[in-house]
Amino acid sequence: MRPLQMVDTKTQYQKIKQEVDAAVIGVLESSQFIGGKVVNDFADNLAKYNEVKHVIPCANGTDALQISMMALELQPGDEVITPSFTYIATVEAAALLKLKPVFVEVDKETFCIDPAALEKAITPKTKAIIPVHLYGHAANMEAIMAIAQKHNLYVIEDNAQAIGCDYTFANGSKKKTGSIGHIGCTSFYPSKNLGAYGDAGAIFTNDDALANRLKMIAIHGQAKRYYHDMVGCNSRLDAIQAAILDIKLKHLDEYIDARRKAAAFYDKAFSGNSAITIPYRAAYSNHVFHQYTLLVNTVNRDELHQYLADNGIPSMIYYPVPCHKQKMFETFGGSDYHLPVTDWLTEKVISLPIHTELDEEQQTFIVSKVLEFINK
Ligand SMILES: *Cc1c(COP(=O)(O)O)cnc(C)c1O
Repeated sequence: MRPLQMVDTKTQYQKIKQEVDAAVIGVLESSQFIGGKVVNDFADNLAKYNEVKHVIPCANGTDALQISMMALELQPGDEVITPSFTYIATVEAAALLKLKPVFVEVDKETFCIDPAALEKAITPKTKAIIPVHLYGHAANMEAIMAIAQKHNLYVIEDNAQAIGCDYTFANGSKKKTGSIGHIGCTSFYPSKNLGAYGDAGAIFTNDDALANRLKMIAIHGQAKRYYHDMVGCNSRLDAIQAAILDIKLKHLDEYIDARRKAAAFYDKAFSGNSAITIPYRAAYSNHVFHQYTLLVNTVNRDELHQYLADNGIPSMIYYPVPCHKQKMFETFGGSDYHLPVTDWLTEKVISLPIHTELDEEQQTFIVSKVLEFINK
């Protein structure tokens, strides 16, 4: 059996090596390392894929979130509502910009922001909501957009884990996640579903004026070289990463299919077992399985984690500490929060290896060890 990994970017690379190597050499020979045709072509292709008007490439997903909040001209003290059960990057930029992160509860089935909890957290100072499509499953965007409209709030989707996910509205129409809110942010961190070979990210919007601001902020607030109209930052996607991403974008749907196939294999093995709960799929979202995350009901999660490790099977806890309990947010009243679903999830979730290169032999082994532990 091939060794087990949470993600196998190496085997994936081997399959597209010729094309990738040629593209990288092409950039090296062109000497156009920052910006230029390769970056623009990738942005155009990604905009087509994600069915969105503008794609602004940037250096990473964390920057994408920061640039978004800057473009919305949020002011110090403005409140930004996010789920506490997410990766720290969703919220960190808000604090950096002296905004006030407000943490709300997640839905216990989708693990994404709970619209009812979100609405309750709105105050006159609330300016924006950042829903996260956690693990590759969409948040309830229809409800979130309705609340946002009612209260005149911006929505920035954190789509870092869900690129390629389709959202279906009640009337049957569909949109890609990341193109539903005012702004969508994504990350091309190597282990993400569309992963670069280094850091990279992008911002999506259908709003022309916002697109203009986002673009300017990512390059020192300039529209014209050496004329700086607003305070920005330096967050560029380099051409080597864009060349690689453009090739991988063509494979993205096939990569998602491979993840879904692996998820279906796990589902079949685990469904109906009362000791664990398989990932939920809401009717409005298909799932792109950035993670395959089980809920452990009757057995000890950490013991399962250890048991798998002892058998050479990696598994991960995303995330052991929710944002509201992170030391960096102590000053935002962390201990005053009462988020029982979030706290419960931090003790009950476990993510199994899922990626495009898993084979049946590997999955059979993983499944057998999970079941062996549960049935012990
Ligand atoms: C990966 C990730 C980010 C940050 O992306 P980087 O490219 O690592 O900066 C933000 N939010 C979520 C939910 C993520 O998973």
